[in-house]
Amino acid sequence: MRVRIGSGPLFEMKPVSVTIWNEFIHERTDPQVARIYPHGIHSAIAAGIGPYGFRIRTATLEQPENGLSPEVLEQTDVLIWWGHLAHEQVSDEVVDRIHARVLQGMGLVVLHSGHRSKIFQKLMGTTCDLKWRTAGERERLWVVAPSHPIAEGIGEYIELPHEETYGEFFDIPAPEELVFIGWFQGGEVFRSGCAFSRGLGKIFYFQPGHEEYPIYYNRDVLRVIANAVRWAAAPHGALPVFGNVPPLENV
Ligand code: ZN
Repeated sequence: MRVRIGSGPLFEMKPVSVTIWNEFIHERTDPQVARIYPHGIHSAIAAGIGPYGFRIRTATLEQPENGLSPEVLEQTDVLIWWGHLAHEQVSDEVVDRIHARVLQGMGLVVLHSGHRSKIFQKLMGTTCDLKWRTAGERERLWVVAPSHPIAEGIGEYIELPHEETYGEFFDIPAPEELVFIGWFQGGEVFRSGCAFSRGLGKIFYFQPGHEEYPIYYNRDVLRVIANAVRWAAAPHGALPVFGNVPPLENV
C-alpha cells in the first residue's frame, strides 16, 4: 500500500511479516487437543489473523534450527511464540539469536504458557513463574488501558467460557503498560496483557490460550493478537548511536 503524508513523498507501506512459532507437541500427542487444533495452534492463529493483511509464516520446534534460522528472523518483523512442554528443547543459540533481533527492533508476542520460555525469561530477567489450575473456569479479561492500540475494537472486556486459571503473583518486572487484567471464577486475578520494551524491540505478553480450549478461534482474542502485531511492528524512531564520538562543538 502507498500512503502520502501531507505533501511529502510517497511511503511504501510493506505488509508486516509475522512468524508464528509453536512447539507443536500437544496437538500431535493428545487426541483431545488434536480435535481442537488438527493442524496445530500455529495454523489456527495464522488463519485467524490472516484477514488483517500480514505476511505470515509458521515455524515449529522440530524444524532445523527450530525453524528460526538467521534468514527467517531477519525477514521477521514480529515473532509470535507458543510453547509449553519443550521450553528446554529450544536451542540456546536460537534463543540468543531471537534476543539479539528483539534488541534490534523485532517485535515479540508471547502467548499463554510461553511465559516460561527461555526467550521470555531472558528478556524479563526474572523467573516469570505464576500460580495455575486447570479447572475450565470462566475468565473475564478487563481492558485497563482503553487508549492503548492493543485494546482497539475490544469494548470493556473479553469473556472466555473456559480457560486455565493463572494467578498472581506473576514474577515479571513491572510492565511498562498494563492493557488487560484477567479475573477468574475461582477468585484469582492476573496481569494478562503486559507491554514491555527491550532495546528497540516491543514485547507483549498475552495470557489466553490453554491448548485444551478453543481459545484461538475467539474473535476478540485474535483481534488482540493482530493489534499486538501491529503495535510491535510500528516504527521505532531514530537508531541510537553508541561508542566513542567526537564533540559537536569545539571543546
Ligand atoms: Zn496452559
